Amino acid sequence: MSQLSVWGSLELHIHPDALAVAGAFAPDQPAILNRPHAAARAARFFVEKFPGRSLYAVKANPSPELLRVLWDAGITHYDVASIAEVRMARAALPDATLCFMHPVKTPSAITEAYRDHGVRVFSLDSVEELEKVREATTLANNGVLPEDLTLCVRLRVSSEYSELSLASKFGCDLTGAAELLQATRQVADSLGICFHVGSQSMSPHAYVQALERVRAAIVDASVTVDIIDVGGGFPSIYPGMEPPPLEDYFGVIDRTYESLPVSYSAELWCEPGRALCAEYNSMIVRVERRRGTELYINDGAYGALFDAAHVGWRFPVRLLRESAANEDGDTELEGFSFWGPTCDDMDRMEGPFALPTDIKVGDFIEIGMLGAYGAAMKTAFNGFGATDVYEVSDEPMASQYRGDRRDPRVTDNVVSLR
Ligand SMILES: *Cc1c(COP(=O)(O)O)cnc(C)c1O
Repeated sequence: MSQLSVWGSLELHIHPDALAVAGAFAPDQPAILNRPHAAARAARFFVEKFPGRSLYAVKANPSPELLRVLWDAGITHYDVASIAEVRMARAALPDATLCFMHPVKTPSAITEAYRDHGVRVFSLDSVEELEKVREATTLANNGVLPEDLTLCVRLRVSSEYSELSLASKFGCDLTGAAELLQATRQVADSLGICFHVGSQSMSPHAYVQALERVRAAIVDASVTVDIIDVGGGFPSIYPGMEPPPLEDYFGVIDRTYESLPVSYSAELWCEPGRALCAEYNSMIVRVERRRGTELYINDGAYGALFDAAHVGWRFPVRLLRESAANEDGDTELEGFSFWGPTCDDMDRMEGPFALPTDIKVGDFIEIGMLGAYGAAMKTAFNGFGATDVYEVSDEPMASQYRGDRRDPRVTDNVVSLR
């Protein structure tokens, strides 16, 4: 697909901001807003400042439009987790390097990925998975073990500094690591060690601690390691979660990596998901009913607000109102909770979300920072889930990349018509 055919129709309709979209369309269903400029800026930041290679973790937001934006901004490698993601990423980006980083795969997915989609990088965390990769790629390679495999052994590391743990499901323990690294070295042309410190890691120290575990594993196994992959976990800004600047993370990762006993030509990789796409989307929802400080809105736990419902994530919000009520910035705010549109009691977002006290039925709200694990999570449960999509050109509600790190806790929660 040519770039023009992907972008042609979108380019004609770039709106200034959410207020303009709400004013012009009064959308009956939730509207997703795309900010390609914000995603491109995030990608350029990683490409220029991370002291190694940055892979985009597709699961955080698999939108093909977003993949093109990241590709155009210099992201060449993509971390995919399922055969459906492999096919989709390959269709969107014919020349990208795809890395199959889910440590538990089906044999047929491995075979298809190797044979049909050019995948050469696989992760694993057990000898059983190593055998599976060996057999499935041999099958894909006309019965001969391929000599071009990059295999990354996933280590289990602590999630203690992260808001969302990824520690219990995957990763081999230090006790089994030496044996697995040695066995993998026999099969791999290039041997990597990877880990994931958990999503939204609030301290750079998480990576130092994990890299120290990597050091122990390398020393223990005495194997030559070609790739150190520090995974994802790089944070974005949300209300009540103001992480240190990403440069702090890159700095300690670089210093610790440089001190590891790896081969002279070794590479450092990372796999950001959230940090590359959080700022890409926001969403416009409408208040359908108000009951005290509870607002019934038209998107929720089964839509883009999964994390708001299930792990109490607080996203930034603002009322989109066509009056100059807040010119002087002293509109009184209070904390609201949200109910989603389905008939399910679990469709509830506790918040609190700070909005003007006089918010009412028919008002539109913009919910920000929904590009990561938000827009990608929508389901059609209960007949909801349809959305309109618009492109806007204003700034995301918070940004790691703008220079003037704005704190969403102290920003205005109402925007007035220009
Ligand atoms: C989910 C995931 C990522 C991305 O994590 P973020 O916290 O969104 O940066 C990277 N690598 C792997 C293996 C993952 O499963």
